[in-house]
Amino acid sequence: MTGSDQGGKLNEGRREAAVQIGVRLYVEADLAAGAEIPLDPAQAHYLRNVMRRAPGDAVRVFNGRHGEWRATIAALGKNKGTLAAEVQTRPQAEESDLWLLAAPIKRTAIDFVAAKATELGVSAIQPVITRRTAVSRVNVERMRANVIEAAEQCERLSVPEVREARPLADVLAAWPAERRILFADESRDGKPIAEALAAERRIMQPGASPRPWAILIGPEGGFAPEEMQRLRAMPVVLPVSLGARLLRADTAALAALAVWQAVMAS
Ligand code: SAM
Repeated sequence: MTGSDQGGKLNEGRREAAVQIGVRLYVEADLAAGAEIPLDPAQAHYLRNVMRRAPGDAVRVFNGRHGEWRATIAALGKNKGTLAAEVQTRPQAEESDLWLLAAPIKRTAIDFVAAKATELGVSAIQPVITRRTAVSRVNVERMRANVIEAAEQCERLSVPEVREARPLADVLAAWPAERRILFADESRDGKPIAEALAAERRIMQPGASPRPWAILIGPEGGFAPEEMQRLRAMPVVLPVSLGARLLRADTAALAALAVWQAVMAS
């Protein structure tokens, strides 16, 4: 057995033991053996009053940079506390570079989409205001709390970035040339999504990570004709159909993300 095989087994063993530790928290602090990690008031409340944990108990932590670590509760008060990082249970790994651009929809639906998109591996969520967007206010702070909770629960090693809402036209005007846009085109003139992505996958180098992508979903009222025209004229845009039925915006976002992950990242 090589050194790295042994290392793999060791990591696997640690990982198996670590999943038994139910509580998993996203933290901002750097993670290294012995690092002291401050808890914010909500985390201290959650550990003490919701999960009934006490000093000496184990938790798992991640920060999106240094993998996942097992830590013990060093101190726990009503609104504060500290953890002590002990041992790394997973190294940081490369994740999909996939943005979700979605027109805001009503409160519960957008929070639901943010949490589920986190589970489905998005790296950033950019709310976009389109011509027919009916929802004017987006509570980005609440969405951030939702994505953190979803990332903690789904064993991700990172938390997606949630950006402030911006007009679609401004986002497209500053679009990075290397990032493709998978445009969910409700006219259903585009190729079926799985077929279109399979063709993209075929031209990828074997074993290579997919290039950066974004998935664009319109509002309940759909895209305006001039927005459709603008999108179809951009070389990075791939218009796709999600099937014969007209889906609600939240369903469309999750369906497109699931197909992208299945075809491009599997
Ligand atoms: N009011 C629009 C209409 O009647 O055509 C429907 C908008 S739909 C509720 C919201 C968004 O979901 C669309 O803008 C599109 O991005 C996406 N979508 C829904 N069904 C789709 C489909 N079958 N194919 C591609 N995109 C779809």
